[in-house]
Amino acid sequence: MSDSHLRPWVAIIGSGPAGLAAAETLAADAEVHVFDVMPSPGRKFLLAGKSGLNLTHAEDFELFLGRFGRAHTILEPALRNFPPEAIREWAAALGTETFVGSSGRVFPTAMKASPLLRAWLARLREGGVTLHTRHRWQGWNAEGVLVFDTPDGVRKFSADATVLALGGASWPRLGSDGSWAALLADRGVRISPLRPANCGFDVQWSAHLRERCAGLPVKSVALSFGGQSLRGEFVISANGIEGSAVYALSAALRDAIEAQDVVRLEIDLLPGRNPEQLAAALSRPRGKATLASHLRKVAGIDGVKATLLRETADAATLADPARLAEHIKALPLVLTGARPLVEVISTAGGVVLDEIDAQFMLRRLPGVFVAGEMLDWEAPTGGYLLSACLATGRAAGSGALCFLKGR
Ligand SMILES: Cc1cc2nc3c(=O)[nH]c(=O)nc-3n(C[C@H](O)[C@H](O)[C@H](O)COP(=O)(O)OP(=O)(O)OC[C@H]3O[C@@H](n4cnc5c(N)ncnc54)[C@H](O)[C@@H]3O)c2cc1C
Repeated sequence: MSDSHLRPWVAIIGSGPAGLAAAETLAADAEVHVFDVMPSPGRKFLLAGKSGLNLTHAEDFELFLGRFGRAHTILEPALRNFPPEAIREWAAALGTETFVGSSGRVFPTAMKASPLLRAWLARLREGGVTLHTRHRWQGWNAEGVLVFDTPDGVRKFSADATVLALGGASWPRLGSDGSWAALLADRGVRISPLRPANCGFDVQWSAHLRERCAGLPVKSVALSFGGQSLRGEFVISANGIEGSAVYALSAALRDAIEAQDVVRLEIDLLPGRNPEQLAAALSRPRGKATLASHLRKVAGIDGVKATLLRETADAATLADPARLAEHIKALPLVLTGARPLVEVISTAGGVVLDEIDAQFMLRRLPGVFVAGEMLDWEAPTGGYLLSACLATGRAAGSGALCFLKGR
């Protein structure tokens, strides 16, 4: 700031969905400056658009809230103030119509983020918001002034309120590298370790499987772990497995691997088939047919599923129809690690939720608000991440406004 300014001067650091949502909330009542280390804003939002931009989810609101696990109580007021239908209206007002997909996921009709981001930035600019790119936040100096590294050297700004919306630590080349964690920890703010979320896992594949199957989807299967079971599909990667069904179980799998090094995930290759009928079908005489053609004929197993079977079953299991049926219904995959944070979809951990008050202000740093993925919550894919980033960005923006009005 400066006390001489007529309107309060607010710094928002991070131009992802959380930071821009905060800017939008504050623009009418404050002089808003958004800072980002990157040459252009919203890089991860644009990347999310490459896979269609799952903006939010249309399921029942209580179910929706439940997706945020133990964090839902703290996030609930923010999510209620900007619920999925409000997100759809907001997008529509920016010229982006949305539709509900078969699973309840909500996408822009154009299945991309760029038109929405362009319109959003234009509206913010018209509302007086100033964007400073290539500004890397380095913390505060001894006088509490914000310090940035820029191509023109160090720049300093004194703010009446600050919203930090610096993201998690996945895909650091898009700007969010988690370097804020050390800056806040230095100020006494407790940070839970940043960990991979919605991630793939390592499997020690044979060279044969990797060469034949890397990149291929395994469709219409059921995955089970720790009492949770779900139908869907996943993808074989060079290092292991990834894809939607794996991401849905990834928090439980990651926690178990951290506790016990390796875990066993069970895959039902034929979730529609009853085990006894399958064993009976596999017992049919196969004459001179190879096992591969027998499996294809009586069980419909071929391609990547057949290669997975060969990879994981020993000769005795392959020769015994009853054991083979059991194996097909509960194929064990040993996972040896979660994929590294840099390549995963989102980040668990971050600013411990007890560190913020109901307005998303850091208790230890009055006037400093936090929003988005840098807070310690996690959620599956399905539009929940962007929903909570937008909602907490708005909540932090409103919190900053209340703080400024109350001074
Ligand atoms: C491949 C992929 C696909 C995804 N698809 C979806 C999807 O379909 N639906 C969904 O809900 N979610 C999706 N997500 C997740 C979603 O994109 C993120 O959860 C969301 O962008 C986080 O928003 P944010 O504003 O908190 O942080 P970010 O979007 O990460 O923005 C943080 C900003 O802070 C800036 N920054 C960081 N450190 C500094 C610093 N020191 N100084 C200055 N600036 C800094 C960064 O450059 C960045 O612009 C996807 C993620 C990935 C990787």
